[in-house]
Amino acid sequence: MGDMPATSVNNYTVLQKVASIMLIGLIIFSRFLDSASSISLTLFVVMLTVVSSFAVLDSILIHYAYFGKDVLFRVIKFAELVTYFMFYAFVPTGSMLAIALIMAVCIVAEEFIISASEYDRLVIFSREMGVSVVAVISVVVAYIRNDEIVWVGFLLTIVLAMILVGFHVAWLVSKVDYYEHELSEIKIEADHLNDSNRKLSEYQEKIRSVNEEINYQKVELKTAMKELEHMNFESDSQKELMKFLASSFDVKKSLSTTISTIMDVKMPKLAAIYLEAGSCRNKKAMLHSETVYTKMDDSLKSDADRIYESVKNRKGQGAVLTGSSIGTYEFVGENDIKSLALLPIGSDKIYGMLVIASDNEFFFEKGLSFYEAIMAELDISVKNIVLYMKTEDMARRDGLTGIFNRLYFGQLFSETVESIKRDGKPVAVALFDIDKFKNVNDTYGHLAGDEVIKLVAHTAEKYSEVNGGFAARYGGEEFLVILPGYDEHTALPVLKGMHEEIKATVVDTGKHQINVDCSIGLTAYPTLCKDTDILVSRADKAMYYSKRHGRGQLIIDSPVIDEDLKEENND
Ligand code: GH3
Ligand code: MG
Ligand code: MG
Repeated sequence: MGDMPATSVNNYTVLQKVASIMLIGLIIFSRFLDSASSISLTLFVVMLTVVSSFAVLDSILIHYAYFGKDVLFRVIKFAELVTYFMFYAFVPTGSMLAIALIMAVCIVAEEFIISASEYDRLVIFSREMGVSVVAVISVVVAYIRNDEIVWVGFLLTIVLAMILVGFHVAWLVSKVDYYEHELSEIKIEADHLNDSNRKLSEYQEKIRSVNEEINYQKVELKTAMKELEHMNFESDSQKELMKFLASSFDVKKSLSTTISTIMDVKMPKLAAIYLEAGSCRNKKAMLHSETVYTKMDDSLKSDADRIYESVKNRKGQGAVLTGSSIGTYEFVGENDIKSLALLPIGSDKIYGMLVIASDNEFFFEKGLSFYEAIMAELDISVKNIVLYMKTEDMARRDGLTGIFNRLYFGQLFSETVESIKRDGKPVAVALFDIDKFKNVNDTYGHLAGDEVIKLVAHTAEKYSEVNGGFAARYGGEEFLVILPGYDEHTALPVLKGMHEEIKATVVDTGKHQINVDCSIGLTAYPTLCKDTDILVSRADKAMYYSKRHGRGQLIIDSPVIDEDLKEENND
């Protein structure tokens, strides 16, 4: 059983009261009409009281909304019904039947209103049926008795019932109008609500798509930030490298720093720089590499010359290889290399290459500008270093002969002495002077003299370098030969060979052929001289001994030389 709407409950209460009052009024009226009634006044009052009590109880229940309490309500209503039936059973006369009929109609009307208010239809139906049966019995009894008073009562009942029904219909119509109005308002409200809902979901959709867009942009921003950070790192590293290259005078360090920077910034699997022989005064080709693969740098070493030839053949065009063409390079081996860049080094003439390998097929997708910029800088650096080396060499070498000068000899000699002392090795020092050179100048001219000096110098240099030493022009036509690791015994055959070649040298002036000879003094540390500071002067003294004793000889340092000098001083 559903709860009754508040308005219906109130109406029901009012009508019930009206019906009850009418019932009481009609009962009193019928007393006057039918004074001969055999019904006892006591019974009549009891019944009257019971009916009124039920009416009041109903009102109270409805007032306090006890309709919600299903069981209680049903019990009370049932008791009410039973009481009415009992009442009818005791009705003795026709007037009382009329009263009963009126009451029945009132109750039907009541119930009709309740049913219109969505009250429990089963309860209402059963009550209506009960009351209707009583009403039919009343009509049948009235007809059988054909009592005038009964008919009057019956007519009155119909009139009252019609009034009540009319009243109820009017009330219902107003109710319908009211509900229709309510309904249309609710519909408008619902439309409004739907509209708002639609707008709300539109906004929600908009917000969702804006959120999605924001999230997407966030991701894009993050990626862009990362890229920017990396670009910053790249440009900072590049700047650092360029600074370093601009101030470096060491090719090996320049190469290794360049390779490390590339490995740090671009993270390839291999980075290598190859410089051909002679590109920076290197006798052999140079290769500097870094790789994450074991032994790849070794295999690149054996493959590098061939690869460099292919780079040179491309005439300055770098190559980026992907796919199966990489397999033709032996150094790749079993490693998973998917892209390979071979870039030439050298702006006007190619003298080297950069090799970059990666396991990422799209490694060079963003171009080669980073490598090209670095290579351009490295090219400048290498050229500067070569220039620096040339300048340095010029300062170290004698202008006429091209062998080391006396100034650089001093530096090189102290370094040599330091290293042989550290290694516990000997060193042989020889000083020689061309004999009677003035005569050459005087007889054949200075230019011829110069030619003689040059040839002698080259012979000295040749013999020194072949034996891991060096030669220097010590004075006008005086030369020094230093042989680290040699003592007087091992140095002797070398110097003899040199002396023989000098003696055999013939300088052709076109008109004349000039023969030269020289006097050589030889000493050695630590066998002949324990003091490295006087090695050169000891060799000089030995050479001087040769001059004094006929020239053209190789004299080994010994105490005889000192005695001879003493004798000379005494003379
Ligand atoms: P000695 O056998 O005693 O050494 O006799 P010498 O004639 O060689 O005597 P000395 O060493 O005194 O003479 C060296 C000469 O070498 C003097 C100088 O004019 C000449 N000379 C020095 N430097 C050069 C040079 O660069 N070119 C030429 N043409 N002559 C030079
Ligand atoms: Mg001389
Ligand atoms: Mg001299």
